[in-house]
Amino acid sequence: MPQKEQLSDVLSEFARTMVTDFPIQRILDRLVERIVEILPITGAGVTLITPGADPRYVAASDESALQFEKLQTELGEGPCLLAYNSGEAVSVADLCEEGRFPTFASRALDAGLRAVFTFPLRSGTDRLGALDLYRDQPGPLGEETTTAAQTLADVAAAYLLNAQARAELSETSARSHYSSLHDALTGLPNRVLLLELLEFTLLRAIRSERLPAILFADLDQFKAVNDTYGHRVGDELLTAVAERLGDLLRPSDVLGRLSGDEFVMVCEDIDHPPQVVAIAERISSALGAPYNLSCGPVVMSASVGIAIADHGESAEDVLHRADMAMYQAKSKGRGRHHIIDVHEQKESDRRTALKFDLRTAVENQELHVDYQPIVNTTDRHIIGFEALLRWTHPTYGPISPSVFIPLAEEGGLIGAIGAWVLSQACEDRRRWSDVDSAVSLGVSVNISPFQLVESGFVESVIAILGGSNTGTEPALLTLEVTESVLLHDSARALLVLGELKQIGVNLSLDDFGTGYSSLNYLDRFPADILKIDQTFIERLEQGQSSQAIVASIVSLSRTLGIKVVAEGVETLEQHEFLSEIDCDACQGFYFSQPMPSHEIGILIDRPDANGAVRLPVYAGSDPA
Ligand code: C2E
Ligand code: MG
Ligand code: MG
Repeated sequence: MPQKEQLSDVLSEFARTMVTDFPIQRILDRLVERIVEILPITGAGVTLITPGADPRYVAASDESALQFEKLQTELGEGPCLLAYNSGEAVSVADLCEEGRFPTFASRALDAGLRAVFTFPLRSGTDRLGALDLYRDQPGPLGEETTTAAQTLADVAAAYLLNAQARAELSETSARSHYSSLHDALTGLPNRVLLLELLEFTLLRAIRSERLPAILFADLDQFKAVNDTYGHRVGDELLTAVAERLGDLLRPSDVLGRLSGDEFVMVCEDIDHPPQVVAIAERISSALGAPYNLSCGPVVMSASVGIAIADHGESAEDVLHRADMAMYQAKSKGRGRHHIIDVHEQKESDRRTALKFDLRTAVENQELHVDYQPIVNTTDRHIIGFEALLRWTHPTYGPISPSVFIPLAEEGGLIGAIGAWVLSQACEDRRRWSDVDSAVSLGVSVNISPFQLVESGFVESVIAILGGSNTGTEPALLTLEVTESVLLHDSARALLVLGELKQIGVNLSLDDFGTGYSSLNYLDRFPADILKIDQTFIERLEQGQSSQAIVASIVSLSRTLGIKVVAEGVETLEQHEFLSEIDCDACQGFYFSQPMPSHEIGILIDRPDANGAVRLPVYAGSDPA
């Protein structure tokens, strides 16, 4: 076949086979293979050149062609480099007469080469390398062959350029894919990758008895390092921490950096919690050793939270638990660890949800107040009621005030909620007092220590006592406060208590005996009433010492001119004992459960012959 036709065959073959993802090396191999078939030469070779880098791709039609390619690269001399640098074809018809690259010429001649014709691989201004045609006989190449060779070189260059652009693109996208999954400072997996790896670990664990543990380490006071020595030193420290943690890893473990000074380790196949505690201790001691940083030695500790994954738990959830556990560890002090269990987490999640929902409980009318009668110990007639707040959550149903009052205090809602209770209790009491029998019945309202010391509290009490719907004789209102009110800002609390006394309301010291210094506070707390906590009443039947304690509280109070209410009276025997020791009043399930406001309305409508309000006598109770 004439050379022209062969050339067009090769060109159309290039066009057909070199589809978009044809690799660079294959293009070069194909070029040298086909070119020796159609041109009068003994070998062909290609070298791709990138400025400043070693040649990356080389192709040769046979061993000796490869040898000549390598020789030129090694020597940094030869027609290939000249054609690449000049962008022009280089023709060496007889190597014996060649003076431009003497070392290459003499070594190539020794290896049997006589003529070289080199064509730059170029496309526009881009140059990629050169195509070398080798012949073991001297003599020029001929015009037609030269044109065919240059055409092939140009076409190949166009394909190469395309392939190179594609390779670069995929390399950049691989690099950006990598950097989107890794932390730039430490090279560790970032949150995204860590969650992905954790998800795989959890999937693997489905069929295993052994569950993975997630250890969440957070440096203690890392901010101080950044603030004192600057971010560069902070970065040095983080890198050192990453290295130390990396040294602790077993092959199946995963280590990642979430953000800042937060590192997470996922350890597979944990048999039992002590094993993970041992890992946490290794982490603490590894991170606790001094760091030699550019600013000098720095000492650091880390708090470690541990969560052992539960079957079916998502990666996000278990990581969240480990994070919670880390906060628990931090609250214990520096360099500590804490293992969180699923139950503890559920409880904490529920508390968070409740705290959130509590914000709208008043406006959604989910709160109401129940009233528990307080009775005179001797004749059991009702002397007043304690207002007890109730919350019916739309999903969880009734929530105990012992649960939600502390949440209201934490969430800064106690002031508003407490004011609502106070005004509701006064409004109800006012309505009952329309009935003669109830005119002198008092109402007791619990006041949180936080609520008491909030600014404007006394003013709000005054406003409610004087309100048109809530107007109440101050002497009929009792505010119940626990002694813990004196624990923090006792000066302020005592001031407020003094102001309340000035208004004329009664003060009751609630849950007396549960604090650790009750008698001490009795002296300072301007109490009118003392409520003996139900734990003392509960123990009355256990023996004489409990009875002696209750009796002496009653007698001490009498000496101080303070009235006593026994809380949590549940049995006839308790009531009898309290009568014997002259305890003024009682409150408890033995007499009545707390009840809704409308039931109080029914009670007061049926006074006894003396006009006193009494509780209905029920089976088993002792009619006074
Ligand atoms: P507390 O002020 O000591 O109220 C007495 C608690 O004992 C009430 O619980 C009452 O239902 C319960 N109780 C009454 N008699 C008996 C009995 O015979 N046996 C037993 N085992 N328990 C009895 P509750 O209603 O669950 O309230 C718990 C606590 O929540 C209250 O203790 C009080 O500290 C707080 N609380 C309730 N309402 C409010 C409020 O409006 N504001 C504030 N700040 N705290 C409130
Ligand atoms: Mg109370
Ligand atoms: Mg109490």
